[in-house]
Amino acid sequence: MPFCPGCGHGIAIKNLSKALEGAGYDPLDVIVVSDIGCAGLVDPVLATHTIHGLHGRAPALALGISLGLSNPGKKVLAIQGDGGATIGLQHLLEAARRNVDMTLIVLNNLLYGMTGGQMSGLSTLEFKAGRHIEDDAPPFDIVRLTHEAGAAYSSRVTAPGDFKTHFAEALATPGFALVEVACLCPSHGVGKMKELVSVASGDLGLARRREPARVAFKETAPLFEKGRQTEAPFHSGIKERLGIVIAGSAGGGVQSTARLIANAGILSGLHATMKGEYPITVGTGFSLAEVILSTKEIHYTGLEVPDAVVAVTTDGLAKARSRIKPGTSVVLDSKLEESASCPNAIYGDFQKEAGKQGAALFAAVFWLVKEGMLEADALLEVARKHKHAKSLVEVIERGVGVG
Ligand code: SF4
Repeated sequence: MPFCPGCGHGIAIKNLSKALEGAGYDPLDVIVVSDIGCAGLVDPVLATHTIHGLHGRAPALALGISLGLSNPGKKVLAIQGDGGATIGLQHLLEAARRNVDMTLIVLNNLLYGMTGGQMSGLSTLEFKAGRHIEDDAPPFDIVRLTHEAGAAYSSRVTAPGDFKTHFAEALATPGFALVEVACLCPSHGVGKMKELVSVASGDLGLARRREPARVAFKETAPLFEKGRQTEAPFHSGIKERLGIVIAGSAGGGVQSTARLIANAGILSGLHATMKGEYPITVGTGFSLAEVILSTKEIHYTGLEVPDAVVAVTTDGLAKARSRIKPGTSVVLDSKLEESASCPNAIYGDFQKEAGKQGAALFAAVFWLVKEGMLEADALLEVARKHKHAKSLVEVIERGVGVG
């Protein structure tokens, strides 16, 4: 075990392991999600799939995995400490509210062990008083909270003998199940079970099973099957992959242009990713977007060397300039001609033709269609479903006409 000698986490994990074996799970039918904190050190000792997330986010990741898999033969299990449960309380409650099919084990040793024993939102008043900490805020009762939120099962245990049974009950429950385990932290907290029982307040024998669950658990279709296209109605001239950077200024429709191109790519039978970048003050400064269109699945969404850079404002070009490499096609607004010093760029009166809001779309469409990367009809098809369909269609038609 990776924990300090005598740490309650080790006892809990051994009990959990036995409960999983008892329930007949093959290790690779179990997906364990943990996050930061001593409880998250569990990954290397498990033969299951393991995923390690940001502090407090294990329930959010587990929720996504559970909905994505939607496979009752697999068990999605999240493990976190009381610090993580406090930090990610909203994620935890959301999973309970939606009664997502997963089991969450909260190893509550009443403190943040990894960072030196600070108090968490689950530290009890008795525990704080014993440590002379002046904080009279009562702890969250996550058993009650998840129960009220809609969990199918919520329980709390302190005695080691109870662990296996509670875990087994939770694992057998379809829907969201929570077990809070009061644990020893001999290094920063309490080292003896007797002491722990005296400071771990609440109804220690509490076991709540909702019959029936408020939100009945129902299997959902796997997320990635939902929008799967069987036949692409449009054609693309992209041989393998195209990476394009679109750069402009806030309010210039850069992000919606990128989204429109990505969707047109999907309608053309391609895989697509889109990533936006802009300052925190979204109403001012540059706006940049990357789109990857590929005939193969995209496993890495970063775009290190773009095939094309389209820039229509000074802000946009300043941000995108470092992305221009030898061999990158460059499409720029003619207003940038003097300052750009890009002799091989294609220049066009995009701002003049389509205004500030339409220039990025106009320039990108012009280049994509001219190069035979996408059909104008694919772009128009997406634009017609947009809330600003009229103006987008007009810009695309003009952009194509310019060719
Ligand atoms: S610091 Fe505490 S919680 Fe962390 S491993 Fe050591 S005993 Fe366990």
